Amino acid sequence: MSNCSMCSPAEPGPGQKRVAVVGGGPAGLFAAERLRAAGLSVDLYEAKGSPGRKFLIAGKGGLNLTHGEPRPQFDLRYRERAATVAGWLDGFDADALRHWARGLGVDTYVGSSGRVFPLDRKAAPLLRGWVRRLKEQGVRFHVQHRWLGWSGDGTLRMQTGDGETRVSADATVLALGGGSWPELGSDGLWVETLRTRSVDVAPLQPANCGFDIDWSAHLRQQHAGRPLKPVIAHWRDLQGTPRHLQGECVISAYGIEGSLVYAIAADLRETIARDGHALLELDLVPGRDAARLHADLSRPRRGRSFGEHLRRVTGIDAAKAALVFEVLGKDAGNDPDAVARTLKHLPLRLLRPRPMAETISTAGGVRLDALDAKLMLHALPGVFCAGEMLDWEAPTGGYLLTACYASALRAAEGVVEWLR
Ligand SMILES: Cc1cc2nc3c(=O)[nH]c(=O)nc-3n(C[C@H](O)[C@H](O)[C@H](O)COP(=O)(O)OP(=O)(O)OC[C@H]3O[C@@H](n4cnc5c(N)ncnc54)[C@H](O)[C@@H]3O)c2cc1C
Repeated sequence: MSNCSMCSPAEPGPGQKRVAVVGGGPAGLFAAERLRAAGLSVDLYEAKGSPGRKFLIAGKGGLNLTHGEPRPQFDLRYRERAATVAGWLDGFDADALRHWARGLGVDTYVGSSGRVFPLDRKAAPLLRGWVRRLKEQGVRFHVQHRWLGWSGDGTLRMQTGDGETRVSADATVLALGGGSWPELGSDGLWVETLRTRSVDVAPLQPANCGFDIDWSAHLRQQHAGRPLKPVIAHWRDLQGTPRHLQGECVISAYGIEGSLVYAIAADLRETIARDGHALLELDLVPGRDAARLHADLSRPRRGRSFGEHLRRVTGIDAAKAALVFEVLGKDAGNDPDAVARTLKHLPLRLLRPRPMAETISTAGGVRLDALDAKLMLHALPGVFCAGEMLDWEAPTGGYLLTACYASALRAAEGVVEWLR
């Protein structure tokens, strides 16, 4: 094992198997917990100065730990990977995650949207208590240890403040995260390291992301940051099937973002990759049909500007009205029929997803068929993978963290079985 000042002196007992967990996000921490509970000697290596930095950021707007949606609907959030992720969730699902949090003294509640949060909505107390408990249980933490790959003799190469060190282990769990918010540690540099060892990795891509739209300077300057709620998004999936979803989004200086857009981002991203752009239509006035809107808009204006008239008879706010003018131009008022149609189907041309570095999560990663059912790499026996670095994606809503925990348990079980 490595010999450095930041490492705990405790060493494994005679004959005790040693496992290296690389990556101190929720997947790595949870794998470490279960491996230790199985009586293994566990060392956790983290590139940053402390574990769980992305987990802490996830808690900033309220830590959405999991979701109250029942299975099997829950499983469908994982799209093409639903069947595989469902297998992981059979071992550790949303209820199990809530129960686990309770074990750390963190009670949770189901919000009106079905999202599950800690009572205080914070990540920091949960993470603090978790790391403390792991240390008490004997997990040895090695921060500022960046894994670089393997040396010729199969040991793990670690970059530390004191230079490179080598680490030997009987099994390894990689839980290196995706490629968003690289400043928090998950920078995706592992992709090339694994590829050079013949591991099939799908390119990392933005997920749960906003999209660029070529707004006019006026819209950008006057309306960036304004929420659009409620709206119904209409789009086509990759098979061309019309889809729709109600929710909320936000006009941003670059285009559009927010929970509704994140929820459908995978379809939009894939459409852009195929067609060069994606068409998203927004119904700005759910609950009112175009015929009634047309009739209301055709009523006398009584000296009001068309903008005022539009807002008054439809009840929409200034941001939604600005979008109508953005699409139809300043003479929109001459054609109430076109305005009514635009209110129900505001066309937005999405040019590209936002850069991966700023997105909530990433799609792509180690392809599932590069792993066995216990998440061990076919190409590297004894090396297991867990968390966001695997090739699955899901919308926000707690589905991301839940799959990270569930896959970590699956990998830990795999290690235990393999070492036996
Ligand atoms: C702003 C934001 C808000 C979010 N909110 C939520 C939410 O409310 N609910 C939800 O479900 N999800 C949320 N997520 C997503 C969630 O945080 C991630 O899906 C989750 O943290 C992934 O866990 P992980 O353990 O797989 O990877 P990470 O949490 O990314 O951890 C990977 C760890 O590996 C370390 N590492 C990487 N490379 C190396 C290396 N070479 N050597 C050593 N260590 C390395 C990194 O430093 C990092 O600590 C949010 C994400 C963001 C950015």
